[in-house]
Amino acid sequence: MNNDLLAGLNAEQLSAVTWPAKSALVLAGAGSGKTRVLTTRIAWLLQTGQANPASILAVTFTNKAAREMQTRLAAMMPVNVKTMWIGTFHGLCNRLLRMHYRDTGLPQTFQILDSGEQQSAIKRLLKSLDISDEKFPPKQVQQFINGQKEAGVRAGELSAHDPYTKKLIELYAAYDAQCNREGVVDFAELLLRSYELLSRNAALCEHYRARFRFLLVDEFQDTNRLQYAWLKLLAGPDNALFAVGDDDQSIYAFRGAEVGNMRALLADYGVAGPVRLEQNYRSAGTILDAANALIERNDGRLGKQLWTAAGPGDKIRLFDAYSDGEEAQFIVDEVKALKRDGWSLSDMAVLYRSNAQSRILEHVLVQAGVAYRIYGGLRFFERQEIKHALAYLRLAINPDDDNALLRVINVPARGIGARSVENLQTASREQGVSLWQAACGAGGGRTAGKLAEFVLLVEKLRQRCEPLNLAEQVSLVIDESGLRAMYEADKKDGEERLANLDELINAATGFMPQEPQLAVVEFLTQASLEAGDHQADAGEDALQLMTVHAAKGLEFNAVFVGGLEEGLFPHENSFNDPKGLEEERRLMYVAITRARQRLYLTNAQSRMLHGQSRYPIRSRFVDEIPAELLQVLSATVKAAPVTSRSSWAEPAFVQQKAVARQGGWRVGQSLSHTKFGAGVVINAEGAGDDVRLQINFAEHGIKWLDLRYAADKLT
Ligand code: ATP
Ligand code: MG
Repeated sequence: MNNDLLAGLNAEQLSAVTWPAKSALVLAGAGSGKTRVLTTRIAWLLQTGQANPASILAVTFTNKAAREMQTRLAAMMPVNVKTMWIGTFHGLCNRLLRMHYRDTGLPQTFQILDSGEQQSAIKRLLKSLDISDEKFPPKQVQQFINGQKEAGVRAGELSAHDPYTKKLIELYAAYDAQCNREGVVDFAELLLRSYELLSRNAALCEHYRARFRFLLVDEFQDTNRLQYAWLKLLAGPDNALFAVGDDDQSIYAFRGAEVGNMRALLADYGVAGPVRLEQNYRSAGTILDAANALIERNDGRLGKQLWTAAGPGDKIRLFDAYSDGEEAQFIVDEVKALKRDGWSLSDMAVLYRSNAQSRILEHVLVQAGVAYRIYGGLRFFERQEIKHALAYLRLAINPDDDNALLRVINVPARGIGARSVENLQTASREQGVSLWQAACGAGGGRTAGKLAEFVLLVEKLRQRCEPLNLAEQVSLVIDESGLRAMYEADKKDGEERLANLDELINAATGFMPQEPQLAVVEFLTQASLEAGDHQADAGEDALQLMTVHAAKGLEFNAVFVGGLEEGLFPHENSFNDPKGLEEERRLMYVAITRARQRLYLTNAQSRMLHGQSRYPIRSRFVDEIPAELLQVLSATVKAAPVTSRSSWAEPAFVQQKAVARQGGWRVGQSLSHTKFGAGVVINAEGAGDDVRLQINFAEHGIKWLDLRYAADKLT
């Protein structure tokens, strides 16, 4: 049995899997078996009796990865994986807080705010304090708060001299007070609270230290400071922290991730040096060569070599589409062709840099009748009707949940207008009570009658839900709230929304709570934590659509990377910052290394984005891949033989430059500006009188110029 487990591992993997019971860092490139090593190590620890299921805590990057790890473990050995602590940082912290809610001052039924809900909560706060959201944009306030929380800092510990930061600190404090009042926590709060729980409660911390002898972390390069501090707290002086990661795949610096945590781990735990894995088992040689050539352009890497025993395989297919519509059509045609050849849809993925790109793909996929699933973007649990239904469910267990109340107080419409809601908010503020309590105490008057009806409805839901099981409760709130009737009357997209609501009942029916008496709370928690994992077509063979960020750690037989255009990928926000550009390049490295056998890179010469036509040039990342690894496809000769050597002067590419002709200028053209000097047009958008050019000036960097004002300064 033991031998089976270790069979097939190479020497370095074997040494990592059977590492003694002390800390280690495995530093290795994509597809070298890091995740496999981590999973096998857990099985090995259990099998050799060094650990029991309760003494393991494993952190994965997504819920999907956690489930996969559990499935693999269950296949390797007879163990009840449900009792093991395997999950994301958020999931594990949630579990901890639920168990010790009293010690953290949270209600047992505390709810989790996703990023959108957090923003609405901040908007509401600004309004109640009469602070202009132009001066303090909610998004900025949100970033400030989350940034501080991720650094482990509370409002009370901050100070500032400038009035703006002072105000931000005040807002942070007021926001936390509001969340406490309402019994909700945001994502960053999950972590900070559970960190504080353990750091302030020595006995509890000792209890967990004595329990979790083995801490294992996947995708370690993307942990932030607080996450690392949390791990260190749990590890204490005696436990083993086993981390695997790849600095070349660090793609969350913008959210505070610190590659420096890798060096810190070596120093903090006296680890002699990282274990390195150099053989890639995932990708065909050509794909790996492309990834290696690309990432070599980044500076300051920790340095890794990857090789594969696999043959070179197919060339990387490059398609230069005339428009975003043609790009989508090409992808869907190829997907269909591969499916005809026997590839399964779920083993193919389309990756994109930004969520907005999925819409047109979805459109073509629907027309072609190809099943697909989206991770991220408009997920099942983010759909309007689902959020409405869940809000009623939340009210049924905790009517003081102001977010939930505001969401549905007038849905379906019941004559409670914005004015009445404002009055209610004022009353709740003045009396220092929740909106619900304010509504209960509202006096006479016409709207008060409507409010009273709403209060009655929520009371009724509360009482009638009490004896029911989860699925019955979900079904009840959908019917009694009037949501079902509302969507039945909606001729436009009511049908689809009703189907989603029914799917919600299905999800509730199949839901397996850890503690049956908390089924509803657990269900709502899962909805917040796992948005996206339960789509209507779960289980069906379907093409996978997702952002590159969401694809981390996954692999597919065929991968399409779309929208390879300057401004989109690399994203335009990164242009002025070499660090930003390197992060984009790592993102591209992640994208490429998801592919096993077949890789497609596509771009469009014109694209509608945010309601505007753009005429971008092809991404520099395509040019950073050696030409001999590529095979250029054109619209007319899609099925060109693999042998055709690619060349950048393909007709399609030449055409592209002509297409981007705007206001007399075209992309690629050199020019001179009276003030900024010599430059090259790299992008253009708009049409007619309203054209903007993006120009890379030799001495002044990249700028967007509006032709209405700049035309006479250009020659
Ligand atoms: P990433 O950096 O993308 O997360 P990774 O280093 O975690 O990649 P894995 O996902 O663990 O890599 O492994 C990549 C693929 O290689 C998987 O399909 C895995 O099953 C396979 N693999 C790993 N090690 C071996 C091995 N020794 N023999 C055969 N296949 C292997
Ligand atoms: Mg992995």
